[in-house]
Amino acid sequence: MENMKIILKDIPDLHKIEVYESNGGYSALEKALKKMTPDEVINEVKTSNLRGRGGACFYTGLKWTFMPKETPKPKYLCCNGDESEPGSFKDREIFEKNPHQFIEGTLLACYAMGIKAAYVYIRGEYYKWINLLQNAIDDAYKKGYIGKNILGSEFSTDIYIHRGAGAYICGEESALMNSVEGKRGYPRVKPPFPAAYGLWGNPTTINNIETLSNIPEIIKNGGQWFSKIGEPKHPGTLLFGVSGHVNKPGVYELETGTPLMTIINDYCGGVTDGKEIKMVIPGGSSMPPLTKEEALTIKMDDASLKAIGSAIGTAGVMVMNEEADIVKVLLRISKFYYHESCGQCTPCREGTGWMMRVLKRIDEGKGRMSDLDLLIEVAQNIEGNTICALGDAAAWPVKWTIKKFRKEFEAKIPEVEEKSVPLNKVHSLRYS
Ligand code: SF4
Repeated sequence: MENMKIILKDIPDLHKIEVYESNGGYSALEKALKKMTPDEVINEVKTSNLRGRGGACFYTGLKWTFMPKETPKPKYLCCNGDESEPGSFKDREIFEKNPHQFIEGTLLACYAMGIKAAYVYIRGEYYKWINLLQNAIDDAYKKGYIGKNILGSEFSTDIYIHRGAGAYICGEESALMNSVEGKRGYPRVKPPFPAAYGLWGNPTTINNIETLSNIPEIIKNGGQWFSKIGEPKHPGTLLFGVSGHVNKPGVYELETGTPLMTIINDYCGGVTDGKEIKMVIPGGSSMPPLTKEEALTIKMDDASLKAIGSAIGTAGVMVMNEEADIVKVLLRISKFYYHESCGQCTPCREGTGWMMRVLKRIDEGKGRMSDLDLLIEVAQNIEGNTICALGDAAAWPVKWTIKKFRKEFEAKIPEVEEKSVPLNKVHSLRYS
């Protein structure tokens, strides 16, 4: 079966505006502006059942309906290209290989929701990709696709790039908005939600780069067409960013519902050195990991992964072979979330440090058997008790890696009679 590609098409030089135009580029925008009302664009996206590609998997068309129609306030679109989750590196492929499809999708979203300004938030480390996207935006302005009275219509909008300064938390939608406003990237307490109180207190929608890049083909071919690709409840393709112990790591666009082992064996050339799989993280470092047995049979879509207690996340697949040191992997992940916690909530600020320090002593052979339940308890006390999802992102890997790979942790703990360590002593352990 030929592999369906909606975004990363095999067309040489597709990043150039002339090549994009000669392959049907910007025809969806023209169709919408000349033949469709904004509500018809939203309904087509609702019919497609497109779900957000940034991790939460929320229905895009439904999200767009949350934007107020009659309001004297300006409305904004934030395009989330922060992409700071370890294991996620798909948006930069779009900026590099098909930036105009993302721009066209952004313009269609603005038309559908009556938005006059879109901010593309990109992590500052993506210097090369920021320049590539800016070049594409400049070309689109020159051709009249962005700016005033687009293609002779009444519709006008501008697109701006906003560079992040390297904080993972700025990928969280409310922290992202604070960052665009020039404030510290602190997540906001919700409600109010962005559609009611977003950028500078005005109605705002936040969409992921890959999500928006799907819109032009949906408008061109119809929502029904899109809804029949891949898994019906989570249709379309996903840009799987595969890393770790595979022979050909990279970004692969495949239909939702593709078996994980098809991705690893048929597209990524199998596990390195012909070794067995030990663990796979299916959607970026915050997602609960899969055991070898789960990896062998799982299909990569929202419902399949949820059914076994994990999630598709950003579709950043991290493969670890039989030689991987799972304790070190989890320690590294925990160190990341500890470092990136913004510190507003006590469970996240203190708990991420506790988990990291207990994991460190286990890794150094100084742990106790009771540490494993202690780690799960700390994780459960973070989960659901914080302002933003970073708390959950830090807790899930710890809780689920220990639950699924407990023997790996026990193997590093010396067999000595132990005394339990009260929680209030754990914070005195220092990471150095
Ligand atoms: Fe900050 Fe963590 Fe609270 Fe999110 S959960 S607001 S990162 S302290």
